[in-house]
Amino acid sequence: MTANQTQTPLPTGNDIRLPWHLRLPAPLEQDFRFYSRNSAAGAASTALLMIILLLCAMLVESLVGPDILLQTWRPRLFTLMVTGGCLILSQQPRWRDWLQPALLTLAFTLSLSGIYLGVIIDHPLSWVFFLQTPLSVVMISTLFRLPLHSTVFSTVLMTAAMIGGLFMAPENTPFEHLTLTVLSLAFISMSLFGQYIYERLLRKHFLSEHVLYQHRDELHTANQVLESQATVDGMTGCINRRGMEARLNQLYHQLSQKSPDAPERINLLLFDIDFFKQYNDTYGHPAGDECLKKVSAVPLSMVQAEKDFAARYGGEEFVIVLTDSSFNDALVFAERMRNRVEQLGLPHSGSRVSQVVTISIGVACSDGGAENGGALLKQADEALYQAKGAGRNRVAMMNNQGMVEMLT
Ligand code: GH3
Ligand code: MG
Ligand code: MG
Repeated sequence: MTANQTQTPLPTGNDIRLPWHLRLPAPLEQDFRFYSRNSAAGAASTALLMIILLLCAMLVESLVGPDILLQTWRPRLFTLMVTGGCLILSQQPRWRDWLQPALLTLAFTLSLSGIYLGVIIDHPLSWVFFLQTPLSVVMISTLFRLPLHSTVFSTVLMTAAMIGGLFMAPENTPFEHLTLTVLSLAFISMSLFGQYIYERLLRKHFLSEHVLYQHRDELHTANQVLESQATVDGMTGCINRRGMEARLNQLYHQLSQKSPDAPERINLLLFDIDFFKQYNDTYGHPAGDECLKKVSAVPLSMVQAEKDFAARYGGEEFVIVLTDSSFNDALVFAERMRNRVEQLGLPHSGSRVSQVVTISIGVACSDGGAENGGALLKQADEALYQAKGAGRNRVAMMNNQGMVEMLT
């Protein structure tokens, strides 16, 4: 990076301001729900603790008075069943979507059963049952870490039911009502505040990760663009020499490894425009460039198969790689290509072989024993050299015996 280039810092999650209500724009909010679904923490251990607590509560209730247990065992059993259900759900990743509603159901069951027992049980200690509501709030906000909005909504409902239940309870004095309400509200507010702070941090963390993923995707796209720019010849649109060598080496590697996606064979065609120096001299360099574009468009339009390609080897020399085709088909391809270039009818008064631009082609095949891409290129180059020597505007091939033959 040069001194006059300015470096823009990448944004981080901290650059994004969270509103006080924490809600994100719709698509992000949906992604966050999915993300936070997996943070419904401690469901299994809390459910186990709950089962123990419920059993202890039933034991205490039987000790305080067997008639109390007669009234409490049904709500207790129901809560135990819901807790067991949550425990099973928490162990099944494919039921993850149901875990949050199940945990909310559990919280409501615990809270409402406490309010119900507080109202119907006629005992000086029956106010203790109302404490199940703050306990439920702590459970969903701190232990299960359910989303803030559903926790707040559920908490308001449960607290309203608890305050209503307290005033319906026969045993309690107004002073006890007030004390219990104030204490519960303080407890509930602290839990919700803790959860607000936690969810704020969680959302910030989510945003940081989100921004990071965006950068990663942008970098990936930029890399792909750079990669294609680095392997494509800007003037003709063919693959450049670097790209050609990489592809050829990869094909040879697959061939030698006999991998499942390996080509049957590799045919390599190397062609060179005849008397191109004279073309430049006669018509000028810019016209030479135009000629190169028109000639290179011929192999580009003829190469069809996925692994086959046309590349600019250098100057006015091009390589065509045909995989899987037989050697004979590759020769037919070469002859057709030579003919099509001739048919373009690009005037070339400097040529000593024709009135129009022509090409000479050398063809070699991996079946001929070349051990790598470099050796195959050398064989095709030898055939091309002899095609030039034999008068140009023709196809020559390297046969299996390592001898060059002209295609008549
Ligand atoms: P031959 O039939 O033996 O191939 O003769 P030739 O004149 O074509 O000889 P050679 O292949 O060695 O000539 C290559 C010429 O191609 C030299 C150079 O001026 C020209 N050339 C190479 N690259 C470019 C290019 O990008 N644009 C233009 N206009 N000319 C190029
Ligand atoms: Mg040349
Ligand atoms: Mg040439």
